[in-house]
Amino acid sequence: MKKKFMPEPFKIKAVEPMYLLGREEREEAIKKAGFNTFLLRSNECYIDLLTDSGTNAMSDRQWAGLMTGDEAYAGSRNFYNLEETVREYFGFEYVIPTHQGRGAENILSSLTIKPGDYVPGNMYFTTTRFHQERNGANFRDVICDEAHDPNRDDVPFKGNVDINKFQALIDDVGAEKIPYICLAVTVNLAGGQPVSMGNIKAVSELAHKHGIKVMYDATRCVENAYFIKTREEGYEDVSIKDIVREMFSYGDGCTMSGKKDCITNIGGFLCVNDKDLYTQATAMVVQFEGMPSYGGLAGRDMEAMAIGIREAMDYDYISHRVNQIRYLGEKLEAAGVPMVKPFGGHAIFLDARGFLSHLEQEEFPAQALSSAIYRESGVRTMERGIVSAGRDVKTGENHKPKLETVRLTIPRRVYTYAHLDYVADSIIELYEKRETIKGLQWEYEPSCLRFFTGRFTEK
Ligand SMILES: *Cc1c(COP(=O)(O)O)cnc(C)c1O
Repeated sequence: MKKKFMPEPFKIKAVEPMYLLGREEREEAIKKAGFNTFLLRSNECYIDLLTDSGTNAMSDRQWAGLMTGDEAYAGSRNFYNLEETVREYFGFEYVIPTHQGRGAENILSSLTIKPGDYVPGNMYFTTTRFHQERNGANFRDVICDEAHDPNRDDVPFKGNVDINKFQALIDDVGAEKIPYICLAVTVNLAGGQPVSMGNIKAVSELAHKHGIKVMYDATRCVENAYFIKTREEGYEDVSIKDIVREMFSYGDGCTMSGKKDCITNIGGFLCVNDKDLYTQATAMVVQFEGMPSYGGLAGRDMEAMAIGIREAMDYDYISHRVNQIRYLGEKLEAAGVPMVKPFGGHAIFLDARGFLSHLEQEEFPAQALSSAIYRESGVRTMERGIVSAGRDVKTGENHKPKLETVRLTIPRRVYTYAHLDYVADSIIELYEKRETIKGLQWEYEPSCLRFFTGRFTEK
């Protein structure tokens, strides 16, 4: 019997107790945290949907793999296992481990960007754009317009690059000023939206015609492959593994945060096909991460990552993961809660402007909503709106993203459908009394990546 929502495709072998603080303690906790959910302590949270980054539950095989860690300073066998696995599943020639995704972003950006260059991307990601700009690049968003509209739910591949925008940038600044296009699969900040294989091919053709490299942000490539399998014609019968391989066959390398689709708690890597770039990257990784055969990771972490990559390609695993997101989304949708649609691969994004239509964007509706959700239910979520978008590096003005969202991110293999029921019920209750939620103002605004440590007070 196949149900609409099949149960978790795993049994629970070890448990971690969780506690719900009382209402007054939660009030106290969020005030102490400056109305920033990043500054709450984990033990103050009940269900923690802050992020799916590094919050994954590893399998019994991954835990067993930790015991096979070869902690040699150089040439650990776990590195060779990881290298072989990444080559097999991603198809890139050279693999350099890094402590996490941003370590790979740092190396790629430093080695390929000259001041005054342009790096196009299908919407930005916080740390990715930070490293591009830190090295003097101008970031240009070339995602399709529909991605910026939370209400367009008729677009199956909202992460697609608008080829005309990419072409216009080439015409405008010249291909020699564009070292690479950063192609995110899926697009986190657009709501976990996928890119179609057709679009990947088109981007690759245009880029390569002009000598521009295609570098993937591969962080959620398995989720992207699932959407291709279920939404793109001709891929119904192709395995997740083969879809991932094909996606990457059109590019020149990738940065990867292992904390997402490698189902581990730490790790990442950089892949390239270009031998010179690889040689330069090995010279740089020793300065910032460690030997090219460990890149800031323990041998055991590399082993867990290699096993996680193989497990992530399993159809039952990935269909359960994406269906959990859909389950939560459909419950909220039935109650009329405004969200980014279609639902993405790792999270539900509440549309905070729709939810709190009585607040201006300068009153930080998404920040206010994520604090209110915590206060109401003990559920921790994250702002992805004007606070995360930061300020323009040149003018100092706030970026004002059209998407002002609160992200409910589902960790991999951690929570069950019953946990999601609690989350949905709490948010629906809050929606019914939404006009009681107040706007916020800065108490302390950090100069970069301000969402991590910024503090607010209630208006
Ligand atoms: C998490 C993430 C990164 C950065 O990876 P870290 O491992 O957190 O450094 C880059 N891109 C996307 C899309 C991400 O979600």
